[in-house]
Amino acid sequence: QLLDGEQLRRALHNRIQELRGNIRVFVRTRPFLPNDGAASNSSIDIMPDGESLAIQGKHAGEGHGFKFDKVFAPSAGQGVVFDEVSEFVQSALDGYNVCLFSYGQTGSGKTHTMQGSGNGAMRGIIPRAVEQILQQAALMQSQRWKFTMKASFLEIYNEDLRDLLVMMNSDGSFKQRNTSSANKISIKRNQEGKSYVDGINKVVIDVEDKAAGLAQLEAVMVAAARARSVATTKMNAQSSRSHSVFMLHLCGSNEESGTIVEGALNLCDLAGSERLDRSGAGSDHKRLKETQAINKSLSSLGDVFTSLANGSKHIPFRNSKLTYLLQDCLSGDGKALMFVNLSPTIESSNESLCSLRFAQRVNAVELGKATKHVQYSSKQGSGRR
Ligand code: ADP
Ligand code: MG
Repeated sequence: QLLDGEQLRRALHNRIQELRGNIRVFVRTRPFLPNDGAASNSSIDIMPDGESLAIQGKHAGEGHGFKFDKVFAPSAGQGVVFDEVSEFVQSALDGYNVCLFSYGQTGSGKTHTMQGSGNGAMRGIIPRAVEQILQQAALMQSQRWKFTMKASFLEIYNEDLRDLLVMMNSDGSFKQRNTSSANKISIKRNQEGKSYVDGINKVVIDVEDKAAGLAQLEAVMVAAARARSVATTKMNAQSSRSHSVFMLHLCGSNEESGTIVEGALNLCDLAGSERLDRSGAGSDHKRLKETQAINKSLSSLGDVFTSLANGSKHIPFRNSKLTYLLQDCLSGDGKALMFVNLSPTIESSNESLCSLRFAQRVNAVELGKATKHVQYSSKQGSGRR
């Protein structure tokens, strides 16, 4: 079967990405906001190469330099940022397991990056990714490709999983009654060793009709936001203390060749990375438990990256729900991209430095190299175009 120009271009692109290693780190510093008080100088200096930055310490003359795959200026808008991740989104259509994380302290712009707001220029990666997939799927119809897309949305709080779409039917309509207590979801592995979430609601997004698809996404986001705020109020918790993962399950089949391609896109808004153990959390049992859960999952994520970088035989995926859930994206033929979100204020410079150091650990990972030594079942179940 001959590849057409577009398929060839994409195959080549994916190959180049594989050669470069499959984990990227992008740094995004948000602009100053009115609440930051009298805007002082930024603690972050972005270099003209677009890949390096210097961060000023709290003490005069103290500075640290870092280099990543990309460093955005605070003026970089949602569209500019999305342009840089659209190839990752495309990979999910091509049959890869793709994961984007946003990492950083509370208030640094994680949710703005992933979700954004409104229907216009401030839309974040989630709505833009869905729109791109709808557009691409429509284009590929002429080559006899048919796609289905399903969305799930979950939250990990204190190492417990919660389905944020329990109130929806799989056709995107809302349920009449609150059935949230009925739904127990858990991470399982199938025979191919791929992870999936058992019992989670999957809402079908209409691929044939772009307007309908976008309306369904809108309903999904509304339902998830509602579920989140109900749950956090009930538990007197804050959403910044849980991880949320928006999942798109994509399946394409070619009516001519019979080829089937399955991919997934996971968009993960992590819990605030601020060093909670210093905040007097110990005075309250509930807060302490939260703190331990967040520390555990974020440090597990770091440990997984480090183990991959070192080519360890054992990758500690099972140490947290987050890494267990996203194992397929972090191993074998997966692709991952981490946004490090930073606040520009001097007051935040210590937290920013911690985030950058965490990310430096991530950036050293070269999946292509590490996976040679790794023993896990990563069956290439999904065919590539
Ligand atoms: P987090 O999710 O990390 O706690 P948010 O995404 O909620 O942080 O961002 C905190 C505030 O800063 C929000 O009001 C958000 O709209 C604003 N903000 C974040 N990043 C940007 C940006 N790049 N441009 C403009 N406003 C931003
Ligand atoms: Mg947030």
